Amino acid sequence: MALGNLRDLYQQVILEHYKKPQHRGVAVPTHRSQRGHNPSCGDTIELTVTLELDGAGDRIEAVKFEGEGCAISMASVDLMAGAVRGKTIAEALEMVQRFQQMMKGEAEFPKEQKKLNVMQGVAQFPVRIKCANLGWHALRAALESVEPPAAGFISNEDE
Ligand code: ZN
Repeated sequence: MALGNLRDLYQQVILEHYKKPQHRGVAVPTHRSQRGHNPSCGDTIELTVTLELDGAGDRIEAVKFEGEGCAISMASVDLMAGAVRGKTIAEALEMVQRFQQMMKGEAEFPKEQKKLNVMQGVAQFPVRIKCANLGWHALRAALESVEPPAAGFISNEDE
């Protein structure tokens, strides 16, 4: 019973982020970008990252995304974009690792990032894990890339 209620709550949070994402758009200026595709479900995202360059140059100022996909993929990337804001690249990469461990049922996030734990239930549905991981995979690829983004991604146009 209690577990059922908890699951309903998680589903509500996921649907809320799917219907009203808070981080849709393009991060400008775009310092890093990465497209992600999950063929098994059809989820496609394009992630853009703005870094804070005045400090050590390795802090995430904003992550935004565009694309289409199922509720789990879209909610996961929206939650991720909010959670990594203000983190250093190293901290964000640790969070990627932790999220992937959580999808195996091996970890969860500490209190200050507990919002991410709403995705925990996805670990019980192996076919949906790729959906949940998509945005995190793309973030890691974007952060680890040393290449500047492709010309098409650099834009001063309004979102
Ligand atoms: Zn999906």
